Amino acid sequence: MERSYVIKPELGKTYPQVSHGKGIYLYDVAGKRYIDGCSGAVTASIGHGIEEIAEAMREQALKVSFAYRSHFSSEAVEELGAKLASWAPGELNWSFFVNSGSEATETAQKIAIQYWQEKGRPTKTRMVSRWMSYHGITMGALSMSGHVLRRKRFVPLLADYPTISPPYPYRRPDGMSLEQYASHCANELETAILRVGPDQLAAFIAEPVIGASGGAVVPPDGYFQRIREICDKYDVLFIADEVMTGVGRTGEKFGMDHWGVKPDLMTLGKGMSAGYTPMAATMATDAIIDTITRGSGLIMAGHTYSANPQSAAVSLAVLRYVEAHHLVERAAVQGAYLLKKLQELAEEIPLIGEARGLGLLCGLEFVKEKKTREPFPLSKGVANQVIAKAFENGLLVYPATGGLEGIAGDSIIISPPLTITTEEIDELVELLKKTVMQVQEDLR
Ligand code: PLP
Repeated sequence: MERSYVIKPELGKTYPQVSHGKGIYLYDVAGKRYIDGCSGAVTASIGHGIEEIAEAMREQALKVSFAYRSHFSSEAVEELGAKLASWAPGELNWSFFVNSGSEATETAQKIAIQYWQEKGRPTKTRMVSRWMSYHGITMGALSMSGHVLRRKRFVPLLADYPTISPPYPYRRPDGMSLEQYASHCANELETAILRVGPDQLAAFIAEPVIGASGGAVVPPDGYFQRIREICDKYDVLFIADEVMTGVGRTGEKFGMDHWGVKPDLMTLGKGMSAGYTPMAATMATDAIIDTITRGSGLIMAGHTYSANPQSAAVSLAVLRYVEAHHLVERAAVQGAYLLKKLQELAEEIPLIGEARGLGLLCGLEFVKEKKTREPFPLSKGVANQVIAKAFENGLLVYPATGGLEGIAGDSIIISPPLTITTEEIDELVELLKKTVMQVQEDLR
């Protein structure tokens, strides 16, 4: 085809057409092979071309693909709800199905506001979030996102929410222990709540591990436990945005499981259907749903495709696949191996300031000078150079830059499918090493 009429991420750039995928590999129509080192957008977490999922898709399509949620429930959606309730921590037993992570976080925001209204506390409408966070691209979700680059153009349209600092161990104040740093960062939430007034605040939202805006930044132990205490103390709901971390990615079913913290609302997306269909969810506790049931009885959110049987059947098949192949446990084991290899790279290559991660959600941060941790100016596009060079070399990695302009450096995410073997990790790291060394050479 000579001319494209599709609006691409970068206008004017030509993208190869994908032909097919198998396991951790994708192939373009010219026959070039790529290691999917980031599961696309940290999404294709069970790998490509899985027969069982294709079969579940076909089976459901032959029964019924679409029935509107105001008319019918379905076996697929009921089983998916039950499965998620059995996986989720605490009293998070209820799922509201949507189609993207942005919709899931925005629905969580709405449910939080509605909950307080139905409790007779209608002034509690604002959210607290963190800099260097990403909760989605729609206006409500972007209002809660502290991703400087993605907000910039739309600031006048965004809700005015208080924002606190992220826990960012690599760039913590000199001489501060991780333990001190955990409470130092969490206590900022208490300060923000007191400044704004608990009567104004509906919820605090955070990613368990900072993804798209920081590159797999893992908080110090104790941080989320303290956050939970503060939220309880001031009647502020805690929303865990597990769109990137959920469904096994970090080596536990959900990121919060690492710290035994039980959120009031939890969002899922990406790995929930592993890219086989658009599917996401907002999960809520019994307490929240009981309150709304006793009140108006109607959650004021939803989309045409919410809870459609086709996507539910696909997502259910994905969760069954994750269970049957022990992919949560596998993510922990393979993730530890990948992180070790990445840390070896970081020791060897001056351009890499830090290698970090949890489970199979890993990241590299690039710096101008390792000792001072000085970042490159974003205008230099160092992470983008790595991503482009990796692509040339047949390796896909994910950008995680721009979350904290002026402070944070350039980062990338490495998050292959949870099915990756040890030999495949070796192959991935070899290509990554070659790529980063090439970029380092180009930067001289
Ligand atoms: N929340 C988190 C933590 C994410 O990482 C993302 C996407 O990267 C979103 C929400 C938004 O999800 P989506 O792109 O599916 O709208």
